[in-house]
Amino acid sequence: MNFDAQLALRLQNVTKQYGETVAVDRVSLEVTPGELLALVGPSGCGKTTLLRLIAGLEMPDEGYIEIRGRVVTGKGMFVPPEKRRVGLMFQDYALFPHMTVAENVAFGLQGWPKEARRRRVREMLSTVRLAHLADRYPHELSGGEQQRVALARALAPEPDVLLLDEPFSNLDAGLRVEVREEIRDLLRNINITTLFVTHDQEEALVMGDRVAVLNQGRLEQAGTPEDVFHQPATRFVAEFFGHTAFILGHVVPEGVETELGFLSQQVPLPPGTEVNILVRPDDLVVYPDEAGEARVVRRAFQGMYHVYQVALPSGRIIHALTLHTHAYAPGTRVRVELQPGHDLVCFKNGRSVSAERSDEVASDHVSLKVAEKELSLGVPAY
Ligand code: ATP
Repeated sequence: MNFDAQLALRLQNVTKQYGETVAVDRVSLEVTPGELLALVGPSGCGKTTLLRLIAGLEMPDEGYIEIRGRVVTGKGMFVPPEKRRVGLMFQDYALFPHMTVAENVAFGLQGWPKEARRRRVREMLSTVRLAHLADRYPHELSGGEQQRVALARALAPEPDVLLLDEPFSNLDAGLRVEVREEIRDLLRNINITTLFVTHDQEEALVMGDRVAVLNQGRLEQAGTPEDVFHQPATRFVAEFFGHTAFILGHVVPEGVETELGFLSQQVPLPPGTEVNILVRPDDLVVYPDEAGEARVVRRAFQGMYHVYQVALPSGRIIHALTLHTHAYAPGTRVRVELQPGHDLVCFKNGRSVSAERSDEVASDHVSLKVAEKELSLGVPAY
């Protein structure tokens, strides 16, 4: 068999159907040892089902899963959950209320010799900085502390892979940011392979070494946070990461004509081809101009920035941002230009031109860049 022990986890063509619903649809994914992979997507896209399949709490209808080169499900194999060396933590933590913190952490170590078990519990509690609370009960802990106990319990049996399902969703906004940074650092320090599920785009980008985006059970794209944000393979991925607009462009021999000006970089499509170009708020520059044909529709103050909804002459609505020092009221006539130096991704039939081409020609990476010299700007670059 073709085992690949270099990988911590490998999913090949994994499919799971509940009646008519295809919860996970032919997902193939590889995770390297020590990697932190964020699984992200809208509600119902199959994130939890995927974790449950890896943990052995569900059986796939098709495909197989390997953990450290060993097939745990598929190809006629099924390794039960307790033999998979997988640590699981769900969003409600599921601590045992009648057990102390130390007893909760010791729960997964039942086969261990007594002294080794005691030592491991001490070690885990000190890793999550809770040694001083070993004798407390879960109801005597804060939400953040309960979460660290649950993490210590999942890590105690030395799993090969840690699976976290919406680990931060029970924490309030302020604590959430603090706790997720702490946990990310901790997971990096102990170098454990982790898959964590979130529906929060920002959390996926901040936490993940790589981000896998799911949509209706299908894997749309897996890549570094920078890749999925700046080089989305599909319109779905582009739109998932927020404040997205597409402007129309026409390929000409030297570049692309758009309603916001000319893009000088070539695209590998015949002249005359119509494309959609992804523009995010920071790709655009907006400034007041009485002769401007665009108009501010709405302004949202976001502390350091204002984010504007702007109606272009074509009727298309785009988002643009300015520093907080520039405030333009709704109704203001403005000019909108493309921010020089930004790579812009071009889409055709819902897929990025570079992704489409990379299916045929693996090496090529196509993006558009606004020529620096073409624009002179009235406001600073962000
Ligand atoms: P959320 O973010 O809301 O938790 P999710 O991305 O984790 O969603 P899943 O819980 O994996 O999504 O569900 C994927 C799809 O499979 C959904 O349409 C869901 O209704 C369906 N589903 C999940 N579990 C079952 C089940 N046991 N029986 C029937 N359908 C199910």
